[in-house]
Amino acid sequence: MSSSTSQQFPILPALHVAALDYYTSPQPEAAIRLNTNESPLPPPADFIEELKSLLPTVSSNRYPDRYVVKLRQALAEFHDVEPQQIFCAKGSNEVLQCLIMAFGGRGRRVVTFEPTYPMHSHIARICATEVVSAKRKEDFTLDLNEVTRVFLKFDPSISFLCSPNNPTGISESRSGVEKVLECAPGLVILDEAYVQFASGTEYMLNPDSNLTYSKTPSMVDKLVRVRTFSKTWAMAGWRLGYMIAPSYVVDACFKVALPYHMDALSQLAGLVALKYVSQMEQRVDMIVKERTRVKEELDKLPLQVWPSEANFILFKSLAVDGTKLWEALLRRSVLIRDCSTWNQLQGFLRVTVGTREENDTFLAAMKDSLGELEGL
Ligand code: PMP
Repeated sequence: MSSSTSQQFPILPALHVAALDYYTSPQPEAAIRLNTNESPLPPPADFIEELKSLLPTVSSNRYPDRYVVKLRQALAEFHDVEPQQIFCAKGSNEVLQCLIMAFGGRGRRVVTFEPTYPMHSHIARICATEVVSAKRKEDFTLDLNEVTRVFLKFDPSISFLCSPNNPTGISESRSGVEKVLECAPGLVILDEAYVQFASGTEYMLNPDSNLTYSKTPSMVDKLVRVRTFSKTWAMAGWRLGYMIAPSYVVDACFKVALPYHMDALSQLAGLVALKYVSQMEQRVDMIVKERTRVKEELDKLPLQVWPSEANFILFKSLAVDGTKLWEALLRRSVLIRDCSTWNQLQGFLRVTVGTREENDTFLAAMKDSLGELEGL
């Protein structure tokens, strides 16, 4: 038997994978971690107790419910839509991946409005989809002329919006989202990972609203809203996200999702979490109050600070280099996010709002670090 082969080693990845950068989020050791927009608190103690008491009902030798029936039913009731309009996955990143696998791919294009959450374009590239990076205005709001220009020129099968937007913290205006829905040639994926922190009923897509807000059904037919249990629900470690979408979108995502992609424990955790909405809302109130306080304190420093509707704040140092400031904070064991490598965000930093104590430590470290660097 011949063992000869024409294969060259090492085997190279596919061209579009070889061209990818790694998606990196540095995770050095630090006592205060305010870099990834998680909940600073674990889930409520009652929630954990209830979940523990239900663990014996989860069988580990059998595959979980492939179609996630109970959790989709519960989420549908929560949002006042039909279960066929809900799709769940392991974190909203996996929801996004299923959407792009189903509606992107070779020969198709997605549009992002930068700066925004880099995983939208990263997952698109993983799926061999061409990425069109459109620009926002200087104040990071949508430029509607740019929106119509890229739609006409590139005919994207997916357009991404993120509201409130990561990392700017700004919510899209109602008129902006409606304009995008009106003229987008394909799906509009509205990433609402932080929507519970956004204020006001003025914002059309608050957690209590449903898909019937729209005047014309065709606008609704292409809107996909993506949510996560990672932030307000304090479940980042358990990985659970979902979307509310037209049923044809859900059907397509079930085609590309792996069999049994949703493990039984996450399904159960999601079901139990939905019984603790008021505790979740109390935590949101706490974070929103802290966000106001931290912003007011940051405003007193030599920084440009953006108003935020999320659980993080974006700022730019006016006096010293952003990355040097990030390093100085890390020397004080405070880790925040250096956004310098993100599209259009050279010199920008983003801090997650933590507990009062964590925020105090961060603010003290900021004053100290700025003092040190300005004195250089
Ligand atoms: N969307 C946005 C805007 C995010 O910031 C994040 C997490 N940082 C996600 C989606 C993904 O969250 P997860 O996969 O934990 O649900």
